[in-house]
Amino acid sequence: MKDTFTHKGMRKKLVETLRKKGITNEAVLEAINKIPRHWFMDSGFIDHAYVDKAFPIAAEQTISQPYTVARQTELLEVEEGDTVLEIGTGSGYQSAVLLEMGITVYTIERQNELFKKTSRFLPKIGYRPKKMVFGDGYKGLPEFAPFDGIVVTAGAPYVPKPLLAQLKVGGKLVIPVGEDVQIMTVFTRTSDTHFEKNEYGEFRFVPLLEDKN
Ligand code: SAH
Repeated sequence: MKDTFTHKGMRKKLVETLRKKGITNEAVLEAINKIPRHWFMDSGFIDHAYVDKAFPIAAEQTISQPYTVARQTELLEVEEGDTVLEIGTGSGYQSAVLLEMGITVYTIERQNELFKKTSRFLPKIGYRPKKMVFGDGYKGLPEFAPFDGIVVTAGAPYVPKPLLAQLKVGGKLVIPVGEDVQIMTVFTRTSDTHFEKNEYGEFRFVPLLEDKN
């Protein structure tokens, strides 16, 4: 797999686009600048890797739009040394962004084909999540909780209670909530029993599915 000067140049431009769209977290922008996003896409779509768009990957799923990845990561408000649970491993790109920022990553994927592909691929390019799990993200990973942040990368029809329960006090759940269109919603755990809710506009994701196939 190659990462040429052309690719690097295109990534710099993508980072500038993300800045113009309002992303300010330097660690997030630096991670996007470093990671060869074209490696995460099927060869037919490589030309589109540095356009700010979502694209198809295997199993009818998508690699999220770079702006969306950047925004969700920024909203987590995590830093080096923190621990994050990701729901929806997909291509592994969001995991790579978090790992590049020095975050410990746990990630869950319910599509077996994608799970197998991405669990082989990420370590091959040097990104090693602490755990990659084939399973149902609605349940989270209680055995490894609590987390500093939880990021859901598929559209959730409702907010799964187990995910709120698996946050540290001070931690944030970043979750797009809704059916056809989702509202990016952040729940901050302010105490054992209290959560503060904030909303950050409309996004479109593939659905967070219940029941494994
Ligand atoms: N984070 C990914 C985005 C993938 S799209 C990336 O950076 O590429 C959303 C992913 O969520 C898909 O791979 C889909 O299979 C997965 N998904 C959907 N419902 C799920 C569930 N209940 N549990 C875990 N993963 C789920």
